[in-house]
Amino acid sequence: MPWRDLLRPRLVHSGPITDLDVAMLQAQGIRGTVLDVDDTLVPTHQQVLTSAVIHWVEQLKSLGPVWLVSNNLHTRRIQTIAHQLDCPYIAGAAKPSRRKLRQALQAMGLPAAQTAMIGDRRLTDILAGNRLGMYTVLVQPIAPPHWLTLRNLEDWLINQLL
Ligand SMILES: [Mg+2]
Repeated sequence: MPWRDLLRPRLVHSGPITDLDVAMLQAQGIRGTVLDVDDTLVPTHQQVLTSAVIHWVEQLKSLGPVWLVSNNLHTRRIQTIAHQLDCPYIAGAAKPSRRKLRQALQAMGLPAAQTAMIGDRRLTDILAGNRLGMYTVLVQPIAPPHWLTLRNLEDWLINQLL
């Protein structure tokens, strides 16, 4: 496969991961998912997940196993996040290396074609997933909670004024 194609996700999702339609993944035949962590599930300076993320991952689990595979070397951070989701995790994965993704797929007992790799970076998440033949989804980085709060406040103020 030409390198350009390896950097091309199967799906470019224009919003954060919590807007991604789980039923669409099911329709693609997805039976297991690998999720990136930093900026996909939570901004890099946060380690408490929003209820929206926790709820979305709960929905995703209806398709099959969900693993967190992160390049972050801080195992404790990834562990803290994984515990909130009750998901197995791998830190220090060195994506675009395939090794740790393969490990997750083997643990799931699924062929790569029936799995999705979802993340916010082409050079790591998408490249690694495409190299294995997973269904790759590029999402927008998740907004930091304080930004969401400010925006919610702004929406609320505008609603009051209109
Ligand atoms: Mg990331």
